Amino acid sequence: MTSPSNLTDAPPRRMVPCPNCKAPALFSPENTYRPFCSARCQGHDFGAWANEAYRVGAPPPEPDLE
Ligand SMILES: [Zn+2]
Repeated sequence: MTSPSNLTDAPPRRMVPCPNCKAPALFSPENTYRPFCSARCQGHDFGAWANEAYRVGAPPPEPDLE
């Protein structure tokens, strides 16, 4: 399986699975969200403990009563 279009100067782009959504994320300096695929996923991971775990006065997401 040869691909002529591979003969370019462009370095190979390393892809890693996003820790949050498992989608392929570009692992290079141009991806400021690496190893995440987007700001959304990065923010989700970052704020998981900070926002949700320490949220005060938030009702439980799933009331287990009845
Ligand atoms: Zn993601």
